[in-house]
Amino acid sequence: MNAPGYFSPATGHLQQAADFPILARKIRGKRLVYLDNGATTQKPTSVIDAERDFYRDANANIHRGVHSLSQHATDLYEAGRERVRSFLNAGRSEEIVFTRGTTEAINLVAVSWGRTQLKPGDEIILSGMEHHSNIVPWQLIGEQTGAVLRVVPISDRGELDMEAYGKLLGPRTRLVAVAHVSNALGTVNPIAEIVRQAHAAGAKVLVDGAQAVAHQAVDVQALGCDFYVFSGHKLYGPTGIGALYARYELLSAMPPWQGGGDMIRTVSFERTTYADIPQRFEAGTPNIAGVIGLAAAIDYVQGLGMDRIAAHEQAILAYGTDALARLPGLRLIGTAHDKAGILSFVVEGIHPHDLGTILDTEGIAIRAGHHCAMPVMTRYGIPGTARASLALYNDERDIDALVAGILKAQTMFGKGGKHE
Ligand code: PMP
Repeated sequence: MNAPGYFSPATGHLQQAADFPILARKIRGKRLVYLDNGATTQKPTSVIDAERDFYRDANANIHRGVHSLSQHATDLYEAGRERVRSFLNAGRSEEIVFTRGTTEAINLVAVSWGRTQLKPGDEIILSGMEHHSNIVPWQLIGEQTGAVLRVVPISDRGELDMEAYGKLLGPRTRLVAVAHVSNALGTVNPIAEIVRQAHAAGAKVLVDGAQAVAHQAVDVQALGCDFYVFSGHKLYGPTGIGALYARYELLSAMPPWQGGGDMIRTVSFERTTYADIPQRFEAGTPNIAGVIGLAAAIDYVQGLGMDRIAAHEQAILAYGTDALARLPGLRLIGTAHDKAGILSFVVEGIHPHDLGTILDTEGIAIRAGHHCAMPVMTRYGIPGTARASLALYNDERDIDALVAGILKAQTMFGKGGKHE
C-alpha cells in the first residue's frame, strides 16, 4: 500500500473512502454520511477480502492439526498475534490474548486477576466517564470478593479531576481501571500520569483502549500500563475479535478463567494442568478468521500511518467543533483540551433520538442515547446526547451535511435560529 497516494495534494487530507465499499451505498436515496464510528467502524476491502480468502483458501482448525492446512491456519493466526504485539508495541507476543472484544477482555481480567487478588475492603478506582463494560465487571467481582469501587469525578469540560484521583489512591487501592478515550465525551485521559501515580501507590492499571486504538498510536510500554484492551471492530476490523495485552509477569501468574480444549497441558479426572500463556486464556476454537481480519485491519491503518490518521481526524474535529459551536441552541458535551474525534451534543428542544431519526432521513448516521455511559449523563443532568464520531474516511463534507441536518431538525421543531 502506497500511503502518500491516499492523501489529497490539495488539502493534505486522507482520500480513501473508496477503500470502504459500504460508503458508496445510498441511504434513503442520499449519500451515506457515516458518523457512528464510535459504535463500530466500516471495513476496508482488504479486511473483507482477508476474511473471505481465509475461508476460501486456508480454513482449518488451529494448534491441533498435523496436516498442512491446519499448520498454515495456525501460522496465520499466530502471525496475527505478532501483528497485535507490534501494533501495541508490547514486549512479547505471549502478552497478547485474543478475546471477543473489549468487554470480554475486561471480564477476563476481572475474573482471573480480580477473583484471586482482591480481598474485602480492597479498592478499585474507576473514572466517572467509564463505559458500562468497564464498570459492571468490577461490580460483579466486588460482590464476590468484597472489593469496593471508588470513582474519580469529572469536570464540566469532561476532564478527570487529577487532584481527586491523587487523593483516592491509597494503600487499599489494588487497581485503577480507566478509559484511554471516553466514548461519550471524546476526552483523552493522561494515561502515563495515571499509571505513574497508581504504580507509586502499588496499584495495577487497566486501560480500556476501545476508543483509542483507531485514532492514535498506542505504545503500552511507553504508557507503562499493566493491562490494555481493545476491540477489532472499532479499528476497521471484524466484529467478535479483540485483544488483551497483559504484562508477562502478571499474565503468567494468572489462573485460567474458562476451561476447555486448547488451554490445557494434561487432563485426567483427578487433575488437569494448564497450558502456558497465552493459550491458557484461549479455551476452545477461537475466532480464527477474525484474527486474520484484524491483522489486515492493522496492516491497513499502519499503511496509512497512525500519526497521519490522528492529524486528519484532529483537523475534522476542529472543523466540526467550530461548526457546531456556531449553531444556536446546541451545547457540546465534552470540551476537554485533549480530545479524540467525538462530538457529543444536545440541541435545545429536540430529543437526541428525534434528532437521530431526522438525520437518518438525510442519510446521516449518528448515535443517540446514553452511549453505555449512564453515569456521564447523570453527571451532566441529561438523558442522553447525540454523538457524531469520526473515522479516517470522514471529511468536511460530512460535517457540513451534519450541520445542515441539524438546522433542518431545528426548523421542523420550530427551534431554528439562523446559522450564524
Ligand atoms: N469501552 C468503550 C470506551 C467503548 O466505547 C466500548 C464500545 N462502545 C466498549 C468498551 C465495549 O466494546 P465492545 O462492545 O466491542 O466489547
